[in-house]
Amino acid sequence: MSKDTDVILPGATLGVLGGGQLGRMFVHAAQAMGYFTAVLDQDATSPAGLVSHHHIRTGYEDPQGLAELARLCAAVTTEFENVPAGALNQLATSLPVSPAGSAVAIAQDRAAEKAHFVKCGVPCAPYAVIATPEQLAAVNDALLPGILKTARMGYDGKGQVRVKTRAELAAAWEQLGRVACVLEKMLPLAHECSVIVARGRNGDIVNLPVQRNLHREGILAVTEVYAGNLPAAQAEQALAAAKSVADGLDYVGVLCVEFFVLQDGKLVVNEIAPRPHNSGHYSQNACDVSQFELQVRCMTGLPLTQPRQHSPSIMLNLLGDLWFRQGGDTPATPAWDKVLQLPGCHLHLYGKADAKRGRKMGHLNITAATPEVVRATALKAAEILG
Ligand code: ADP
Ligand code: MG
Repeated sequence: MSKDTDVILPGATLGVLGGGQLGRMFVHAAQAMGYFTAVLDQDATSPAGLVSHHHIRTGYEDPQGLAELARLCAAVTTEFENVPAGALNQLATSLPVSPAGSAVAIAQDRAAEKAHFVKCGVPCAPYAVIATPEQLAAVNDALLPGILKTARMGYDGKGQVRVKTRAELAAAWEQLGRVACVLEKMLPLAHECSVIVARGRNGDIVNLPVQRNLHREGILAVTEVYAGNLPAAQAEQALAAAKSVADGLDYVGVLCVEFFVLQDGKLVVNEIAPRPHNSGHYSQNACDVSQFELQVRCMTGLPLTQPRQHSPSIMLNLLGDLWFRQGGDTPATPAWDKVLQLPGCHLHLYGKADAKRGRKMGHLNITAATPEVVRATALKAAEILG
């Protein structure tokens, strides 16, 4: 059994809980460095399971599945924050697990996450926890209009209701099944940004450049990363906040911290993801170290070196909607050949068989020598895709 202090060198097997696209790109990065991989995910056609050396097809809490993963692997990570923290803790009794179950447990729960931001002195939106009728009745009117979000299991804008009045708030809490929720004040956003940090076992911390993000209908649509995408002071503040959030968790692994930039220029932390993040995908083609290689380095105790972005970049998310551009219910493959005629376009598809509206099918990383050219290329690509 490897100890938390041992460096795990290529040739060993690395495990990941979850078989989605983030797991798939982790597997690709680990294999490129000479590791073997094991994915635990019950879906026989999961994007990561399809490309991994080992695929354990059980649920996250299946004792046999977890035992098999522990037997095969020298270290384990996760690609999915809703993996039960108990499964990570169970694995941690026999091998290094990063991030730790305790950090993942905080990221799973918006109330715990916000309490952590407060503890670290990083400003977040004014909020109240609503888990009981008494807490609902006690809500301060200053939080309205607001967004009621389930404390657990929300993603891509799911599990959220926008409310203007107390009556709407009460109805929304009913609609969400009276589960534990967080009510957040609706803030006037100028834009959104995020930072990926990677923190090693020894506390060393490195970062990718601050990303500017555009969401559509609660789902990330576009990430832009180049000089001038954000005022320098905002980027510095976001980076410092992300580092203190990671240090405060004694975090080991890749962490994404998402922020709102308000119309008055103030920066407010939104949420964290204890894993690589959609907004960090540009690093695959625009940086000398990708967020997935950082994940491999963190979990194995390899050195972390500060990544360098070598090209201005824009990432376009490719949702299943693109397959239905011509109307009707029969999907049609988008014109990848036309998009790939544009210089600096890098296509990443996740191997998902069924295109569905709103489903993340892949992303397009666009790189160029200058921000002007990358923006022009992104516009052309978006036009071709329709
Ligand atoms: P998810 O976990 O689904 O990503 P978020 O809390 O990040 O949920 O919310 C999704 C999006 O909704 C955000 O990226 C932002 O555009 C918008 N949003 C969320 N909370 C607020 C808020 N308090 N004020 C204004 N917009 C918000
Ligand atoms: Mg979000």
